Amino acid sequence: MKDTYRHKGLRRRMVDALRQRGIADEAVLAAMGAVPRHYFLDKAFEEHAYDDKPFPIGNQQTISQPFTVAYQTSLLDVHARDRVLEIGTGSGYQAAVLAALGAKVYTLERQEALFQQAKSLLDEMGFSGIRCLFRDGTKGLPEFAPFDKILVTAGALVVPEALKEQLAVGGVLVIPVGEEVQYMYKITRLSQTEYKEDILDAFRFVPFLEGVQRK
Ligand code: SAH
Repeated sequence: MKDTYRHKGLRRRMVDALRQRGIADEAVLAAMGAVPRHYFLDKAFEEHAYDDKPFPIGNQQTISQPFTVAYQTSLLDVHARDRVLEIGTGSGYQAAVLAALGAKVYTLERQEALFQQAKSLLDEMGFSGIRCLFRDGTKGLPEFAPFDKILVTAGALVVPEALKEQLAVGGVLVIPVGEEVQYMYKITRLSQTEYKEDILDAFRFVPFLEGVQRK
């Protein structure tokens, strides 16, 4: 793994392009400027690692495009030491961006092959603040709840109740919901019993599926 001047230059251009597209959260832009996205992609796509595009990561899954990562991360409003649950580890890139913001990250993946690949990469990169687990994220991670923030990076048909219950009061859940197209939902827990729901822009995600898939 090498992070060359060329990679750094391309990354700076990616961040400028995100700012142009309306991402205004400078902390998020700085985190994305710090994490080498090309480490998370197959060698075949390395040349394009800093284009604003999703790429296949194997097992019919994709690494989200940078704009989507920036959009979801901005909505979460992550602060240092926040306890963040991510569902859909995939390549591990989004988890790395959350850790670069100073969060304590728990990330769940239902496909064993992807879980193992992301875990070893994040370990190799020295991300000690990320805990990777091979789990079905529809149930959340009750033994480590409550979370300040929960981020789902796959498209759900409904919002799992378990995830709302595992939010701390004042916490935020960001989840794309819908069948063909998903609308980004930002759900804030106002009290023990009340939630506020904001429905935002449309995206396309790979499906949020129940159960785990072993190798
Ligand atoms: N955040 C990822 C994007 C991955 S794509 C990245 O930065 O690369 C979505 C991922 O969600 C896929 O890897 C898919 O296997 C996973 N996924 C889908 N349903 C899931 C579930 N119920 N629990 C955990 N992971 C799930």
